[in-house]
Amino acid sequence: MTTSEELKAKIFEDGVEFIYAMFVEMHGKPCAKLVPVTAIDNLLEEGAGFAGFAAGPLSQTAADPDILAIPDISSYVQLPWQPNVAAMQCDPTVEGEDWPYAPRIILKRALASAAEQNLVLKAGAEVEYSLLRRDEDGSIRVADERDVSSTPCYDARGLTAALDHLTTVSNHMDAMGWGNYANDHEDANGQFEQNFQYADALTTCDRLIVLRLMLHTLARRQGLYATFMPKPFADKTGNGLHTHLSLWTADSDEPLFHGDDDQRGLGLSEMAYHFTGGILNHAQGLTGIVCPTVNSFKRIGVGPPDSGATWAPSYVAYGGNNRTQMIRVPDGGRIEVRVPDGSANPYLALAAMLAAGLDGIRKAVDPGEPNVDNLFTLSLDEIDARGINALPPTLLHAMDALEADDVLRSAMGTGRDGDYVDYFAKVKRAEHRSITDRVSPAEIDAYLSLM
Ligand SMILES: [Mg+2]
Repeated sequence: MTTSEELKAKIFEDGVEFIYAMFVEMHGKPCAKLVPVTAIDNLLEEGAGFAGFAAGPLSQTAADPDILAIPDISSYVQLPWQPNVAAMQCDPTVEGEDWPYAPRIILKRALASAAEQNLVLKAGAEVEYSLLRRDEDGSIRVADERDVSSTPCYDARGLTAALDHLTTVSNHMDAMGWGNYANDHEDANGQFEQNFQYADALTTCDRLIVLRLMLHTLARRQGLYATFMPKPFADKTGNGLHTHLSLWTADSDEPLFHGDDDQRGLGLSEMAYHFTGGILNHAQGLTGIVCPTVNSFKRIGVGPPDSGATWAPSYVAYGGNNRTQMIRVPDGGRIEVRVPDGSANPYLALAAMLAAGLDGIRKAVDPGEPNVDNLFTLSLDEIDARGINALPPTLLHAMDALEADDVLRSAMGTGRDGDYVDYFAKVKRAEHRSITDRVSPAEIDAYLSLM
């Protein structure tokens, strides 16, 4: 669907009465105005107006003119859990120009630059989330009180307890045309994953925003929280956003990551290896974009949770079907980047991963031989001896690396207030401080009587 006439016909056919005109800010918060379909012409021509400063980090001030969010017709989707409402993702503009601090604009620019090289990025994302309750004292606990097993992953009983919720989500995914193909209880108590088919990168990002909104809404109707927070519980597996990537030709939709004569046996093309090498080379700064919260660093690079493994990478390494490394090649034709977590803004994450991968292609980076070991059990001395780098240990380390990465700096672009990565790092350093300024119970335990 590409024209406003087709859109209006679809709105009529769907019986939709209202449109969410949506966009996200830096954190991926879903922002919307509810627009009645009687005002659709105005929405399409003028966009929806927002005070950008109030929405969240968009490098706007209270003195700035409105953001006008222009709907992307192709992103129209009726929301099956509230079928009189549809969502359209919008491109934020200011005074007629794309606003360079809007994540969707940043990704679109990155995709356009790939298109100039006749390349299309396709992406699939594994959204892990936790269903939780919050008590009056502010503490959180797993929604299902009987979900206490130390090995809850794939447990059919945990799956069954959440069946109404999971099947509702699955049916809604299919109603939106996403192609749900699996749903499971994940490795942490209260944790689930519901998979849908990959698509071009922009479509997948738009779907992730709608999916998160749907899960928040359905959980709230049950008095629960759905959270994508990377590590809600220190001793349980965190919420990842494992991302599957492949490049295709723009003009003929030919896959470019398949390799039939791959000497390393992973079924990848030379281009896919170079792309992989680029992502590994930019891993430090990239982590700042794909693991963008203080909490993110409790998921990666720490010891095993209750169930025996973190399922999150600690080291900059790649290999075959082995989940202990940063990049896994599950089978030929695509790579899975396992660093991103549930707090990642998908538009920024994909823009950054694409830029890193394309830099690898440009420089013909060889990622070296694939890792074949269980990196969760290799000693630190052995990791060191092999020259394998660890991922950054904190958000601040990641911000230092991001600011020093000229390829990511250039890919995330620049605007009125300077480069996006500097703005991003400034916001994230303030976020780090606002959290670590607080005295935690762990500090009291450690220091109260230490000296
Ligand atoms: Mg998973």
